[in-house]
Amino acid sequence: MIGAVDIGGTKIAVGMVDDAGRVVSKLESPTDAPGGYANGLARMTSMLRETARNAGVGISGIGIGSTGMVYPESGKFGDADFLPGWQGNNPVEDLAREFNVTVAIENDGDASALGEASWGAGKGKSRLIYVTIGTGIGGGIILDGKLYRGADMAHPEISHHVIEASGPACSCGFRGCWESLATGPAMAAWFKLNSTGDDRYPVNISAEQICRLAQSGDEPAARAVERESYYLGLGLANLINLFVPEVIVLGGSVMKSAALFLDGVRKVISQGCRFVPYEKTELALASLGEDANLIGAARVWHHRFGEPGLRTGRV
Ligand SMILES: [Zn+2]
Repeated sequence: MIGAVDIGGTKIAVGMVDDAGRVVSKLESPTDAPGGYANGLARMTSMLRETARNAGVGISGIGIGSTGMVYPESGKFGDADFLPGWQGNNPVEDLAREFNVTVAIENDGDASALGEASWGAGKGKSRLIYVTIGTGIGGGIILDGKLYRGADMAHPEISHHVIEASGPACSCGFRGCWESLATGPAMAAWFKLNSTGDDRYPVNISAEQICRLAQSGDEPAARAVERESYYLGLGLANLINLFVPEVIVLGGSVMKSAALFLDGVRKVISQGCRFVPYEKTELALASLGEDANLIGAARVWHHRFGEPGLRTGRV
């Protein structure tokens, strides 16, 4: 049984995940990053003990998926906007010492990619890109069955490629990144800008509400959906041109309304990917549901230390 730890900006979830990718017990706690790393570690440790006790199992390894920048080789946190003050701390070493088992960490986009590739919508595919579209855009790339990492084991940032050079400023330093144009908040911001003074709509309308309005035939909402489909399509088309994966697995809150976007997305892809066999890239919806992050975190351990067919040796 693998202990899974999902460290997000708002909560830390912990669970026991069996060898078939099923979560058999889980607990969660607010991340409370300002409360300090030692406090966070103490909560992770006690939740791991409690979930193992609840499931009546021993822990044979621990996998961690974390928001922000992490160093998979050393096990340390990098500079993460959501975990101020945690940089340089090493949950891999600390949990390994506490539980006397092997521990592995990856960025949460990579963790989810591993989960979907093994136990979810990407099962059986060796070239896969996982993309989550919600308040941000994240993801991970699996090539030939292994997680792709860059120099110094870096996690590539698939959301920070520019799709409109004069677009909105992005936190990374560029303008018009995929992330600045195609997230749920970006969709809502555009809608608000274009419906200023129209009192039919709530002041702080969300992407989810816009999707519902579009489904009921609202014209301005339909235009926002059309624009979202276009930008989603551009970003996905770029990934297809660069990697021609067998499947792109789509997750995140915006993809709960995927039916509204997919036709428009496919149209964009067919317009701009004609030098690659884009029709071979399946667009699939993430299938691991609400426990996807925990399942992915468990898969981080399997990917590093697990069964011989998937063993990657040193990171
Ligand atoms: Zn950016």
